[in-house]
Amino acid sequence: MNKKLQIFRGIFNSRNYHFLVLTLTILLGIYKRYQPAVASQCASNTPAYWFIFNSDKLLINPKNDLKIPFTDSLKEFSIISIREYYLGTLDGHPTYTAEVTPETTAPEGMSFEDLKLTYDILDEDIFLLAGRAIQIINWDKNHQFCGACGAPTINWEHGNAKKCPECGHMSFPRISPAVITAIVKDGKLLMAKHSYGVTNRYGLIAGFVDPGETLEEAVKREVAEEVGLKVKNIKYFDSQPWPFPHSLMVGFTAEYKSGEIKVDELEILDAKWFSPEEISPLPSKMSIASELIEWFIENYSNR
Ligand SMILES: [Zn+2]
Repeated sequence: MNKKLQIFRGIFNSRNYHFLVLTLTILLGIYKRYQPAVASQCASNTPAYWFIFNSDKLLINPKNDLKIPFTDSLKEFSIISIREYYLGTLDGHPTYTAEVTPETTAPEGMSFEDLKLTYDILDEDIFLLAGRAIQIINWDKNHQFCGACGAPTINWEHGNAKKCPECGHMSFPRISPAVITAIVKDGKLLMAKHSYGVTNRYGLIAGFVDPGETLEEAVKREVAEEVGLKVKNIKYFDSQPWPFPHSLMVGFTAEYKSGEIKVDELEILDAKWFSPEEISPLPSKMSIASELIEWFIENYSNR
């Protein structure tokens, strides 16, 4: 999203910038061109968009405007899917997600690309729809049998759910909410170095929401657990589906309240306060982490 915002950045001051981010998030969301549905009303030979996954890789057709294969039959590509699931319509065309075997090779002129890397290839709303597609097809694969009694499940006719015909148990696509927080103290941003990170980068405090707690409680608990601090003025910032593998990232801003930084040195190796000048932009613009860091830099530079 931020890539598209660059055009507008010069026109708006920093105070309007956050409002603009929120506005464009709504405008650029998944439902701009996509209409969800459970069952296709079209004949089986109607041309359709196909989000085809080989493990975590999405089939890209660079010759197509949307870069998503469009065909009335997968036979045209000599592809045999091992499962298919109807998603609804994209620009009025039926749209499916499908899984192929790991041995499947891409048709000539196309390629299977790591879903994360398709952010730079696809339009934002198509990228978001691809994220929905991979979560739905993986959920379909992992819920063929009832988790309560083991009987084969059937697709529920009223929504994305699997129903057990034996015991009635229902399974829905799994979404795991996680919170990520930009904590500010005296014009500086708290960032921590995680032991599991692939780089030495410092990042924002983040973690999954536990059963029974509110999002704000999750923010307070994660901050206390990871760096031993208390925070106040917790404010919702933005949210972002994160299909790696099935998170919903909920961004917050907060102010330091009390305490001294104390890390466990196992999960978190170090944490400290950074001025805007000490922070280099994140290499990828696609995450809510980079949005939060940009928000901090916009609002706290040159003060
Ligand atoms: Zn059952």
